[in-house]
Amino acid sequence: MTEPAHFRDLLSGLQSRAAARIDRLETELDNLARARRDGSDDDEHDPEGVPLSAEWSRLVGLLQAARSEAAEVDSALLRLEAGTYGICSQCRKAIPVERLEARPFADRCVRCAS
Ligand SMILES: [Zn+2]
Repeated sequence: MTEPAHFRDLLSGLQSRAAARIDRLETELDNLARARRDGSDDDEHDPEGVPLSAEWSRLVGLLQAARSEAAEVDSALLRLEAGTYGICSQCRKAIPVERLEARPFADRCVRCAS
């Protein structure tokens, strides 16, 4: 039996960390957009030699990952409210607690997820 309060805590922790990460990445992307706009053509490389476009792709990738984690956490919280948390969305069996401890937003058991 899963303990809703415990997982609600875990998930809210993840939720605020993901939100903070999204905020930070959006700020970094803003700064980078400004740097690109202000720069002339040969500023496509920053002093450390990392092309701005490569840095841009890296940040966009991280932002997408943070957003999809936030979405997974949100839907896990909804399942918690609905009382379906910890039940595999595919085979309807209980997801082992150890898996939920490792991945609190998991919605499928290991077998169905692989
Ligand atoms: Zn399953």
